[in-house]
Amino acid sequence: MTGLKIAQRMIRLLPGVTAGVGTCDWYEPRIRHVHLSPRTARGEDMRALACAAHEAAHAVQHVRLHGISFRVWQSWPVQSPLVPLGLFSATLAAVAMKWHPWPVAIFAACVALGRVAAVMLMEWEASTIALGWLKLHGFEHPDSAHYLRRLWRSYLWIAIGL
Ligand SMILES: [Zn+2]
Repeated sequence: MTGLKIAQRMIRLLPGVTAGVGTCDWYEPRIRHVHLSPRTARGEDMRALACAAHEAAHAVQHVRLHGISFRVWQSWPVQSPLVPLGLFSATLAAVAMKWHPWPVAIFAACVALGRVAAVMLMEWEASTIALGWLKLHGFEHPDSAHYLRRLWRSYLWIAIGL
């Protein structure tokens, strides 16, 4: 069983969702496509299966759960790298112009934390769906949960960095 086969089985019942080999692992909601890196798509190891299941789980979140949290996660304020740049510039400007910096800094901190929370919630849910599916279909490896948790922690730095 390869990563691509796992993803294809997971999205089988999701209308309009496709999976294929791309440059990296991500789900593109606009065209409902699960992109898998060549390593994940062709891999048969625990990491490849867990990673493919995680990306396919984003399609499940999008098409089956279609909750407000998914739309918030995919929204411009959460995804755009211009938002933290803007917040950082506004904080610097507040200090330089000798405005009262605290309201600006508190607002910037709230937006930044909100972005991290939106990303981490959706990534946690996707990993939970992935693990549940792997368990249900007998593809679980003793290290799957550990690997998915580590993958989740790696998103923390991406979420803070963005
Ligand atoms: Zn993800």
